[in-house]
Amino acid sequence: MSIFDGVRRVTFLHAHPDDETLVTGAFIIDLFQRGIDVAVVTATRGERGGVVPGPLKRLEGTHQLFFERERELSRAFSALGVTEHTFLGMPPARAAGLSPASYHDSGMRWVKPGVAGPAADIDAQAFVRSFDEAVADFAAHLTYWRPDLVISYDADGGYFHPDHIHCHEIASAAAARLGLPFVEIVSETRPDAPDIEWVDRPDLIEDVAKALRCHRTQLTVQGDTIVHSGGQIQLIQTRTGVRRA
Ligand SMILES: [Zn+2]
Repeated sequence: MSIFDGVRRVTFLHAHPDDETLVTGAFIIDLFQRGIDVAVVTATRGERGGVVPGPLKRLEGTHQLFFERERELSRAFSALGVTEHTFLGMPPARAAGLSPASYHDSGMRWVKPGVAGPAADIDAQAFVRSFDEAVADFAAHLTYWRPDLVISYDADGGYFHPDHIHCHEIASAAAARLGLPFVEIVSETRPDAPDIEWVDRPDLIEDVAKALRCHRTQLTVQGDTIVHSGGQIQLIQTRTGVRRA
């Protein structure tokens, strides 16, 4: 018995460009291979994130980065085979009667290795400052796409990034509003448990690496590892744990 038995369509809510590939790249390809259609809504453009050393570094902290990360994300979705993608705040992920808007990256700082905390300065349009509007926008997309399951992070948000934790809150609230099951991606901070279903696809590492390379302002792929803009090294992830919330 799998969480995905009988499922035809799913919707993911991700926080920033690159999360869809870093956290769920192999998982998304696996869903397509099972015949399940996938839509992804991304909350922000990750415009407050760092940029890799080198010529692209000049984009860091500029408004251009907002648009560059939109382009990178679009290329990554092409690599993953995702055609149904929207930013939160843009139709069809916008509540009826409201003009299009963008939610800003809330920023973060490292509080200890592997654990993120809120940035000291959060602007007025930051994603984390919006709850009712963001839920209404995501619910509008769910009404449009009509998924059988809604998928986002668990309450730890993967590594406690405030935007990721907020995605959990927004996605679970919108799913509850529409009576849809909510499936959470289990954080690495959580212990293994019998209710976790693992999607483990090491055979897809090259496909994930191809999509990761599209995020060239954020990371560099070296063999089976990723070097993040701040120099942190991580193995390319092809295994994702999920459970019904
Ligand atoms: Zn993120």
